[in-house]
Amino acid sequence: MKCKFCDRPAFIKLHYPRMYLCPEHFTEYFERKVKRTIERYRMIGPDERILVVVSGGKDSAVTAHVLKKLGYNVECLHINLGIGEYSAKSEEYAKRQCETLGVPLHIVRVRELLGKGIGEVRTRRPTCSYCGLTKRYIFNKFAHDNGFDAVATGHNLDDEASFILANLMNWNTQYLAKQGPVTPSQFNGKLVKKVKPLYELTEREVVAYALANGIEYEMEECPHAAGATTLEYKAILNGMEEKRPGTKINFVKGYLRKKALFETELEETELRECRTCGMPSNGEVCSFCRFWGLEEPIDFRIRG
Ligand SMILES: [Zn+2]
Ligand SMILES: [Zn+2]
Repeated sequence: MKCKFCDRPAFIKLHYPRMYLCPEHFTEYFERKVKRTIERYRMIGPDERILVVVSGGKDSAVTAHVLKKLGYNVECLHINLGIGEYSAKSEEYAKRQCETLGVPLHIVRVRELLGKGIGEVRTRRPTCSYCGLTKRYIFNKFAHDNGFDAVATGHNLDDEASFILANLMNWNTQYLAKQGPVTPSQFNGKLVKKVKPLYELTEREVVAYALANGIEYEMEECPHAAGATTLEYKAILNGMEEKRPGTKINFVKGYLRKKALFETELEETELRECRTCGMPSNGEVCSFCRFWGLEEPIDFRIRG
């Protein structure tokens, strides 16, 4: 098959909208779509400083790549989780990706910072749960301490659709009230704005973009994520997408239209300042400081 726009052989068949594209025209299509997504949801302005959280995986690498190509002011942060070989390899990928792109990379290593890696803490809390808590705190505090306007993450359409489906299956209405492409800055800027530029692009498209643009990335899943039910939900949604192209995007857009229905479920929790670090907290001490037993706040300001 030939590309829809030129004589070159097609490299990918898109199902929704249905068309065959060569690498160049697919890249153009993908970047235009990210640009439109950013504009549609008013994610970021041209003068804002964006911190992209790069894990070493494809989604965040592609996010950094496209934002840079679109001319945004981008720096990257890699959080080394201290999970053996997996984290060492991930850090190497993140370094290579940012070097190729010519974007500054900051690295925070959980074991150096907190004494233990993810998976080494004795706790009844599931590993993925305190890993998520730790990552979210670090990238937010890092962005806050260094004056970034927004944190961009690599969540794609498949991530969003499976998150919504999983939370519907469990009727986690609290989570459903808060999900979306943009989380505005809150609490006097202490919670930095979060954006998801790949919100309307499928995982398959992200993989194809990485391939077409020679972006190398960590393909292994985190060892702690093995058997995660999200993968099952993704498989179910992909099965439906195959039969009815457009299922995922329509599901997510429908959710955004109906999201207000869940907002009544939000418990009014008054956020206050954590006694230890001063960041927003539900209790007297925030869950990060409590979990890691901190007595002093961590200062993430880049020196020099
Ligand atoms: Zn073409
Ligand atoms: Zn705290």
